[in-house]
Amino acid sequence: MNQPATRYIITASEAESMARSKGLTVAQLLPSFVKSAQDLARTPISKFDVGAVGLGSDGRIFLGANIEFPGLPLHHSIHAEQFLITNLAAHGGGPKLLNIAVSAAPCGHCRQFLQELRRVSETQIVITDQPLENPDYKPISSILPNPFGPFDLLDQETPLILEKHNNGLSLKDDSSITQNGSKLNLSNGYHDLIDKNHESLKLDALEAACNSHAPYSGCPSGVALMDCEGKVYKGSYMESAAYNPSMMPVQAALVAYMVAGGGGYERIVAAVLVEKEGVVVRQEDTARLMLKYISPKCELRVFHCV
Ligand SMILES: [Zn+2]
Repeated sequence: MNQPATRYIITASEAESMARSKGLTVAQLLPSFVKSAQDLARTPISKFDVGAVGLGSDGRIFLGANIEFPGLPLHHSIHAEQFLITNLAAHGGGPKLLNIAVSAAPCGHCRQFLQELRRVSETQIVITDQPLENPDYKPISSILPNPFGPFDLLDQETPLILEKHNNGLSLKDDSSITQNGSKLNLSNGYHDLIDKNHESLKLDALEAACNSHAPYSGCPSGVALMDCEGKVYKGSYMESAAYNPSMMPVQAALVAYMVAGGGGYERIVAAVLVEKEGVVVRQEDTARLMLKYISPKCELRVFHCV
């Protein structure tokens, strides 16, 4: 795994020492990172930067920001709270989100997505667009009364986001799908690099699919992206009980890319998607669309799993 850039994740010891130096608890410290989180937003459409800062149960602080993609429908946007949860899940900061500080009141979409965390009603939230000396935390249940969520659809044993998943998938032997029907027709100038990393990229995407959260559709999927230096970024699909706030695997992989310090999307030169064949929820077409707009020369290859 690539080392995350410190601006997206603050270690537990750093967080404790910063809090101690200010005479605060780590929870009280969270709002002071909201502005830094907002600065990580990529909002060419709305210009409305949202920052979300969370305290994981392992003591680390995780940042998230909203990300927009010009040329694509708005539902491809990543909300700051979704970014934060993806960051937390990908880096093992769970199993609970203890506190969250956000720059603006969470939209309905995010209040719903948060329901995929076990007992999130107990998570403490503060909404702040200004520096606060003494943050006024309230439980999430106070901003979403009468929630609909996994507890309405799943049994208690089904793992939720931030809990360990093992979907037990393996690749189908003849699963290679190639672009335009030919073996490889790479035009992006990174043919050798992609060829060299082809097998490992496939396994990285399979691992991401094995870790994905798809209890509602039964259609797990994962994406691995590779940049022009050969670094790999994995993203697992994460479903919401309400469907629409789900995080597509290519979105999750883009979060991993940004957290690891990735720059412009055009540096992403190869992508592999692993999903099941012919299922009711497929990622291939939407992943192709998204990559076409953000990194037109990126090659996406799809492999099926069982
Ligand atoms: Zn939102």
